[in-house]
Amino acid sequence: MLRTHTCGQLGTGDIGKKVILSGWVSSIRDHGNIIFFDLRDRYGITQIVCNLPALKPEILELVKKVRQEFVLKISGTVVARSPETVNPKIPTGTIEIILEELEILNVSEPLPFEIQESKNINENTRLKYRYLDLRRQQLKENIVFRSDFISRIREFFFKEGFVEIETPVLTKSTPEGARDFLVPSRLNPGSFYALPQSPQLFKQILMISGFDRYYQIARCFRDEDLRSDRQPEFTQIDVEMSFVEENDIMDISERMIKYAIEKTTDIKISIPFPRLTYEEAINRFGTDKPDTRFGMEIIELSEALADSGSNILQSILDSGGVIKGLIIQQGENISIKDVDNLNEFVKQRGGKGIGWMRFRENEVVSPLRKSLKEVVIEKIKKISGISPGSLLLFLGGKNQWVCETLGEIRLHIGTKLNLIDESLFNFLWVVDFPLFEFNQEEQRIQCVHHPFTSPKKQDIENLEKQPLAAKSRAYDLVLNGSEIGGGSIRIHDRKLQERIFSILNMKPEEYNEKFGFLLEALGFGAPPHGGIAFGLDRLVMILRKEDSIRETIAFPKTQKGVCPLSGAPGIVDERQLRELYIKVDFKPKE
Ligand code: ASP
Repeated sequence: MLRTHTCGQLGTGDIGKKVILSGWVSSIRDHGNIIFFDLRDRYGITQIVCNLPALKPEILELVKKVRQEFVLKISGTVVARSPETVNPKIPTGTIEIILEELEILNVSEPLPFEIQESKNINENTRLKYRYLDLRRQQLKENIVFRSDFISRIREFFFKEGFVEIETPVLTKSTPEGARDFLVPSRLNPGSFYALPQSPQLFKQILMISGFDRYYQIARCFRDEDLRSDRQPEFTQIDVEMSFVEENDIMDISERMIKYAIEKTTDIKISIPFPRLTYEEAINRFGTDKPDTRFGMEIIELSEALADSGSNILQSILDSGGVIKGLIIQQGENISIKDVDNLNEFVKQRGGKGIGWMRFRENEVVSPLRKSLKEVVIEKIKKISGISPGSLLLFLGGKNQWVCETLGEIRLHIGTKLNLIDESLFNFLWVVDFPLFEFNQEEQRIQCVHHPFTSPKKQDIENLEKQPLAAKSRAYDLVLNGSEIGGGSIRIHDRKLQERIFSILNMKPEEYNEKFGFLLEALGFGAPPHGGIAFGLDRLVMILRKEDSIRETIAFPKTQKGVCPLSGAPGIVDERQLRELYIKVDFKPKE
């Protein structure tokens, strides 16, 4: 027998028992005649006491050989720790085991880093030795939490009558706004599969097949530049339902989130979640993923600053711009230097600079003080929220730009002044998105979500005439300022789907080649349907209060898309390439 108990199991109730434990030596403390081992497994840590003079000679020999991360099987007796040595930080902290027998099950090379410190070391090294990194308790708990969380999600969907269906990984492009990963087909020379950016088209086809309620814990692949909360492959909780409207999807989503979170954490979730329209979100928070854990919302100042006496401000308003601002209550904590930095930031974003006014007991300080009329200053002083000590920051220009820039400044100041209550989990929906947006760089119209998103009924007629005015039936779920889910009611009418492709500047040959199978399926009695997908990695990251999704994925990739553990991606040999009819025209730099 290799163990009678795990290393996280024993307590005062077990005192006097003879036990066998197996695990890794996480630390060794040598006190001369007594050596302590901390023995660790997935479940916890137990202190082993080696009382050297009392050991059999062959066991004593073995004890002396033990090093960190050796794998041991020990036998001994559970005893109470003396009161001054009780460790309240660990569940087994009231007991220890007096070692009697010892077997070294395996040895370990000297470690490349201290396991408990691994979070702070160079990421490449950490991921190269991911098996050691994964021995760290917190990371291990994240992965176990993830598994519990997924099983609660499955439980919820099962109770609600959903069918879990796997969709292909070798497929055709499913556009979600990123580049595809391609896989050459040996059996079809010159042809490529794309890895799915999401199961979008298959889940819609499953609705056409009559499955009614689908979900999948689905792996998705997007070849894009990576940031701390992005990975080239990631996991979505993917959902699709038939005969539904927006409210049906939002309702099931809220109940699923509440169920899974409340079953796995102490967090209480109240539903329904608040809803904001896209326009409100932009105007109040400057982003479509507002962090509502603190206030400091954007305020409108165009009216208060009309006819102010300042030529600069007047010219902004005369050219159809707006002036908006932020009131910082603890304005004295923002120094002149901070304001200078914000000014630089605004200039980098293409603006002229930031305006400001400091309100003190008996004075108002501002670079514009001299040019502003007294009545205007008096008007501004009366704006609710402004009081002695406040700092008012303001910007002028086109509304979207002004709001987005202030939105970034709001987040920056919120973090700097510690205004964010980290104990909150603020969910909210953003709805009424525009259907299309104009991509300035590429000078073309593109979808805000994906091209299968339905426009609002009232906008269908004028789609071609005013595409940028059309709103969509999409909804995004935001948690603490991160987008953690998004979906929409879909187009189930073939003609309308073709019109959307045309507005996106696709010729019939192109959309038929790419999406002919969907268009054809839509022609065979597609039911009204809609769905949503949630980013599992990001959701787990926020719930575990981590700052990178790599802390929630067992084998993540680096920012360069590399897996230092396996060495992927790697060079393949000539023969493999020949079989695929592929020639590589690239020589890596020496
Ligand atoms: N397929 C979408 C995405 O991956 C989600 C959805 O519309 O259901 O973002």
